[in-house]
Amino acid sequence: MTPTPGLLEVDVLVIGAGMAGAMAALAARDAGATVAVASRAPGATALSSGAVGVAPDPTASPDEPLAWLRAPVEAARRLAARRPDHPYAAVGVAGLWRLGEALRFAARQLEPLLAPPLERPRLLATPAGNAVRAALCQRSMDAGDLLAVRGPLLVCGFAGHLAFDAALVAAGLARYTPRGGPEVGDAEVALPFDDPAARPHELARALEPPGAAERLGEALRIPAGALGAGAILLPPVLGLDPAARVPERIAAAAGMPVAETLSDVPSVPGLRLHAALEARLRVAGVARVTGEAAGAPAPGRAVEIGGTVVRAETWILASGRFVGGGIARRGALVEPALGLPVQAAEGREAGVHLARRPAASLTVRDRRAPQPLLSAGLRVDAALRPVDDRGRPVHPRLLAAGAVIGGHEQATDGSGLGVAILTGFLAGRAAARRGA
Ligand SMILES: Cc1cc2nc3c(=O)[nH]c(=O)nc-3n(C[C@H](O)[C@H](O)[C@H](O)COP(=O)(O)OP(=O)(O)OC[C@H]3O[C@@H](n4cnc5c(N)ncnc54)[C@H](O)[C@@H]3O)c2cc1C
Repeated sequence: MTPTPGLLEVDVLVIGAGMAGAMAALAARDAGATVAVASRAPGATALSSGAVGVAPDPTASPDEPLAWLRAPVEAARRLAARRPDHPYAAVGVAGLWRLGEALRFAARQLEPLLAPPLERPRLLATPAGNAVRAALCQRSMDAGDLLAVRGPLLVCGFAGHLAFDAALVAAGLARYTPRGGPEVGDAEVALPFDDPAARPHELARALEPPGAAERLGEALRIPAGALGAGAILLPPVLGLDPAARVPERIAAAAGMPVAETLSDVPSVPGLRLHAALEARLRVAGVARVTGEAAGAPAPGRAVEIGGTVVRAETWILASGRFVGGGIARRGALVEPALGLPVQAAEGREAGVHLARRPAASLTVRDRRAPQPLLSAGLRVDAALRPVDDRGRPVHPRLLAAGAVIGGHEQATDGSGLGVAILTGFLAGRAAARRGA
């Protein structure tokens, strides 16, 4: 066939460049396919805290938060067994079996950023002083794993940096001390530059130049020595570029392990993750297209996105949910890129008809109760093909990955990035097989 000028022809087109789209693209590329990724902006991945949540442990006792730590893969199996509408259940036993492989693939692809997975989850501190389970985390957080800290933990804030209250974090973490967590103390040090009230990403950048991290590390020696600390926990602003090695440099100057907490929004670790995914796509030779896919036709047909015309036999829709823009509220719920049917579930009732109800009617007053609106999305078969309201695949070479798939919700089941990694990995591998 003669190539058409101005046409980008690849085996696989991925729509969305969050964790799910990036994993899909990298898994397909790694399996030999040519891949293009189109996206219009950063999505929820860039807001995430720095922890990859896979699944809660339903057998964990609230009174013994540091005990009974089930491996993330086992916790995901239990979640799938309890929730037949969850993506972990949709991919079937064989799909979920590959979760460990998918997590290791993600850690390898994001090697300088992510710490390798352990058999158990890590327990990491939030800026509110809680501990949450993470299947994967950024290296900058690894030394703050409450199950691995040796000796007292010093929580240290920065004078004038009001986004982080060291005393609050320390008081929260002290609740875990009688149950096997470390002793905790708190302190505050001055930052080695002028504007401690700068926004988190500005503080992160200011710690990168030579000398800044080293001066902070030296200042930390005094409160750390007074406590006899075994490790230091800092606000989540330890550099934007992992290559600047800010935590490692602070640790070398302080003479002990240093970690940052997870982050609220705006999230420096989330921005770091977004930047690392973009860098990895570039290195892997994935073509990047910036723009919005709207009313796109179907795999195999040319589609124009942001001025580029792309043709691919297989498409993977990884457009996220409300933050990413993969699902939108226009009175009722819609999927704007291809106009696919959106489904919602409320109690035992499920399906497209529910999603056609006014979106506001899918919320429940008790905010701790499941919110049907927040877990609405596409329904997929075991091959990750979106299905219509009768359960039939919409197109044989159209796959979906990540938060655009419904049936899960980060805020209540903590499986956000875990779902993105597993479904992205499986969709990418399957797409590469189809293209071959
Ligand atoms: C504030 C916040 C904090 C969170 N914290 C955590 C956490 O700590 N741990 C965790 O495990 N999970 C967390 N989650 C959940 C997790 O971030 C998401 O589940 C996950 O990032 C979803 O990834 P995704 O790739 O599916 O979607 P997204 O990251 O949202 O990416 C969607 C992509 O699709 C693109 N896109 C959408 N529509 C189009 C279109 N029509 N054309 C072109 N491009 C399009 C967007 O531009 C974007 O690039 C958090 C979520 C939020 C909102």
